[in-house]
Amino acid sequence: MITRTSAALQSDSTSPDDPASEAVPLTPRQHRQDWQAQLRDAVRDPHELCRRLDLDTAWLGGAETGHALFPVRVPHAYLARIRPGDPDDPLLRQVLPLDRESEPVAGFVGDPLEEAEHRPRPGLIHKYRNRVLLIASPACAINCRYCFRRHFPYAENSPSRGQWETTLDYLRQDTSINEAIFSGGDPLASPDRRLAWLAERLADIPHLKRLRLHTRLPVVIPDRVDSPLLDWLAATRLQTVMVVHINHPNEIDAGVADAMQRLRGAGVTLLNQSVLLRGVNDDVETLARLSERLFEVGILPYYLHVLDPVEGAAHFDVPDAEAVSLVETLRTQLAGFLMPRLVREVPGEASKTPLA
Ligand code: SF4
Repeated sequence: MITRTSAALQSDSTSPDDPASEAVPLTPRQHRQDWQAQLRDAVRDPHELCRRLDLDTAWLGGAETGHALFPVRVPHAYLARIRPGDPDDPLLRQVLPLDRESEPVAGFVGDPLEEAEHRPRPGLIHKYRNRVLLIASPACAINCRYCFRRHFPYAENSPSRGQWETTLDYLRQDTSINEAIFSGGDPLASPDRRLAWLAERLADIPHLKRLRLHTRLPVVIPDRVDSPLLDWLAATRLQTVMVVHINHPNEIDAGVADAMQRLRGAGVTLLNQSVLLRGVNDDVETLARLSERLFEVGILPYYLHVLDPVEGAAHFDVPDAEAVSLVETLRTQLAGFLMPRLVREVPGEASKTPLA
């Protein structure tokens, strides 16, 4: 089946090998939907995922096993960038459940970063000096199979407004904290009125300088970057930094490029963090293309994380020695400002640990 997405048809900036040229087209209805409708309409069933992508039903047994552990969720705007009929597509590999997720592997655990040790208030994670993470949403637009929070107890960390006041008091009292980070889940899965309310409360804390958002939503559903979001981002007195999460250059289509332009127009600094994933981006050519493409759309490469050893994701692991070797070669291919820092997060350490 050879079809061409509307995203590709609109694009004047897709790379020659952009898989959009043979991906699943969006229907007219999907084009008309706002981001919340697109979230609701995401593919949430392995049968539907395989059917939409012309995948052999032989995949379904494993997909159902993985789905029972961590459900499938793939919005149509992301699905549209996946090549039908190709089980090795690097975007598909990030979202397709496998039976291997149920195999226990030594060292791969439910809470690999030991975040349970660092939750002093509901919805708050305080691991590093100067900065705190706020779980601004328990939901995500997409369920990434390698996610280190795939077993996170979101039910215990979804504060009501009253509970947020307790959390905000913690920030008010600790004057060493100068940066708040909206995390999740995906913080942008929350409605803008809730995020704007929280951002206003944070801006009232004099020692806070920056508001950072860790999000994949503008990549997964570029329509998420709409006027209500841009309005509160542009209005806050805090400096705004958005760290998006892109692992492969094929994730950046014309819609994503436009969304990034809108964010830059609102004064948001854009950085990217990736995870080094077996079968997705574990080669120098892909990583080099990713950095080049990020910069083309106004995003600076920031971190390349080695996989956090979370239960169910061992098949994505790339050993540290191989990761270091890849990055050393990558350094010979790219200008210094296009090089992401290869890091591992070690529980209890005061910062990320550089590996190369
Ligand atoms: S938190 Fe990020 S990596 Fe994890 S499932 Fe959500 S979008 Fe994917």
